[in-house]
Amino acid sequence: MGASKRTLVTSALPYANGPLHIGHLAGAYLNADVYVRWLRGTGQEVLFVCGSDEHGAAITVRARKEGLTPQEIVDKYHTLFQSTFQAIGISFDVYDRTSSPLHHRTSQEFFRKLFDDGQFIEKESEQYFDEEANSFLADRYIIGTCPRCGHPDAYGDQCEKCGSTLSPTELIDPRSTLSGSKPVMRSTRHWYLPLENHEAWLREWINTGELDGSPHHDPALWKNHVIGQCKSWLDAGLQPRAMTRDLDWGVDVPPEIPGAAGKKLYVWMDAPIGYISATRKWAEENGGDWRQWWQDEDTDLIHFIGKDNIVFHCLIFPAILKAHGGYNLPVNVPANQFMNLEGNKISTSRNWAVWVDEFVRDFPGLEDSLRYNMIRNMPEQRDSEFTWKSFQETHNGELVNNLANFVNRVLVLTGKYFQGTVPAVHLDATFKDPEGHQTTVSDWLRKMADQIGEIDASIRSFSFRDGLQKVMEMSSAGNQILQINEPWKVYQSDPEAVKPVLFISLQIVTALSRVLRPFLPFTANRLDTFLGCPTGGEKGRIQEILDLIQAGEAILPAGHQTGEVGHLFDRIGDEVIEEQIARLHATEVPIAEEETSESHAFAPEKPEIQYDQFAGLDIRTGTIRSAEKVAKADRLLKLEVDLGFDQRTIVSGIAEYFQPEAIIGQQVLVLANLAPRKLKGITSQGMILMATGPDGGLHFVLPGETLPPGCIIS
Ligand SMILES: [Zn+2]
Repeated sequence: MGASKRTLVTSALPYANGPLHIGHLAGAYLNADVYVRWLRGTGQEVLFVCGSDEHGAAITVRARKEGLTPQEIVDKYHTLFQSTFQAIGISFDVYDRTSSPLHHRTSQEFFRKLFDDGQFIEKESEQYFDEEANSFLADRYIIGTCPRCGHPDAYGDQCEKCGSTLSPTELIDPRSTLSGSKPVMRSTRHWYLPLENHEAWLREWINTGELDGSPHHDPALWKNHVIGQCKSWLDAGLQPRAMTRDLDWGVDVPPEIPGAAGKKLYVWMDAPIGYISATRKWAEENGGDWRQWWQDEDTDLIHFIGKDNIVFHCLIFPAILKAHGGYNLPVNVPANQFMNLEGNKISTSRNWAVWVDEFVRDFPGLEDSLRYNMIRNMPEQRDSEFTWKSFQETHNGELVNNLANFVNRVLVLTGKYFQGTVPAVHLDATFKDPEGHQTTVSDWLRKMADQIGEIDASIRSFSFRDGLQKVMEMSSAGNQILQINEPWKVYQSDPEAVKPVLFISLQIVTALSRVLRPFLPFTANRLDTFLGCPTGGEKGRIQEILDLIQAGEAILPAGHQTGEVGHLFDRIGDEVIEEQIARLHATEVPIAEEETSESHAFAPEKPEIQYDQFAGLDIRTGTIRSAEKVAKADRLLKLEVDLGFDQRTIVSGIAEYFQPEAIIGQQVLVLANLAPRKLKGITSQGMILMATGPDGGLHFVLPGETLPPGCIIS
């Protein structure tokens, strides 16, 4: 099953200036953990590395706010991260930190090599300087009035009210947060990575999956939103990016380089190198060779991240690695979208979050219930939402009613009829399958092997929701087998007939204990105990059952003695959920008065354009005359749109929001002079204008009244 290659898996380094919330978990950790555990189960060689990102100006800002030193801040959160990840079952092989001496050394060696090879350019620029504090000011250290919305406390890099990306020089009345004084401009020199020199190969690598003219990865396996974001950066043209900063907290620029005094590595230069340092730490502690994992081309590198880190992991870090030479580039970066909470974006500053450390404290024993709900709702292709109500529903409706119910019935009945021993059954013995057909035990075992193959395919294509659903379908089928064969009735008259039913049910429970482990590791341990199997083993345990089935054998042999049966899950009552919802609202930090008109966070404003650019858009009213699904494209509808003066074929990515038959006759606005482009072999001659609602769903944009096709919008 799968390739025999080595796989190095990284999860985004969490930033050590605040606790972990469920959005972090859903973005870069649970998905990676399922992936890694599955690979281990299939016997593949895999290493899972991560660590705390402990540098950058936001750490010093936080330290100032809390009256602590930067080191105290990162110590506090690094310790919290370690215990939180462990409590929720994230199975890193190594969890390092970027303040470690080994990391400082590794990133300095990296910087030094790029410097020696002439990969940097030196540039002088004017930057804000605080004369009272005698310090250059990082963008976060400057606040002033936002030039876009007038918010008086916008940061030098971003206005948190309107979401605009800013540069410090755009702020009106800038002031330093260190002293409150008005900063002055001073010139400073920094080393820049000329990303424009890397644009050509990056473009080829992203678009075709080829590197230096040879196949590197299959771009069809990359997520659309990841490739889309990279393309939009590449199309805008890459610029030189500063790799150093004037800061007093971070990795020193190697001191032997002239002009290094007072300069630190840019946090986005040193943080991803943290993956390499973590691998070195693991190798030192385990006697492995870190180079095998980074430099041997038989190793696949995969970065799990949230969508806010796409550019750094798909363009900037690959450029750094390639400039250094000798390192593998990622074969995939399956970035997730964001998870929202109870109708709003998760916000640390507003305390609108479910903090993972608080969850594991408040719900001991329900770690897997959180994992289950989050994997089930994982924002794999688009933003998703966590609600306490859905947490309760998936726990009670699926884990209790389906999984726990099945496991409990099988083991209790085995105890009652066979003293807890797996009954001896010929593999040709039959029972009724969920459709009521007589099926042999060996046929059902082979069917399970196929199901496991399908779960494998889902996980390897980063469709963890699908994979989990298929696991639960195995459990549902088990419940149906019990229901239709009714062993509790049949036993009185024909105890022999009950044997194959419980035998196959025990095989299903055993298979579940193996394939559930990547998703629900704590539950898998309990299943092992109930089954009387050794707990905790992971490596090769999925492959093991496939091999047994392949060899025509059962997974759990006849005569095996099962263990003591316990309770998998209790139901979660309404009062528990209501308490959590009430607490979320009670502890929310209210947004400032001038911001109350915001119902949700807005996307950053796009750069200003001239009137001519707008006047160049030919937007018309149109009417949809026909609509049909595009074969092999889940999101696309092929539309025929009447523009009055012309009939257009338009391919639109709205299939998930609208049924084709429901939108025939729908009035729409069409960008009519967009250059035609081919989508799935169909030439699309225009674009339907859509609004993205606060829920992330798409809505048609309409004039206030029905107009005939072809009217000009201006
Ligand atoms: Zn603003």
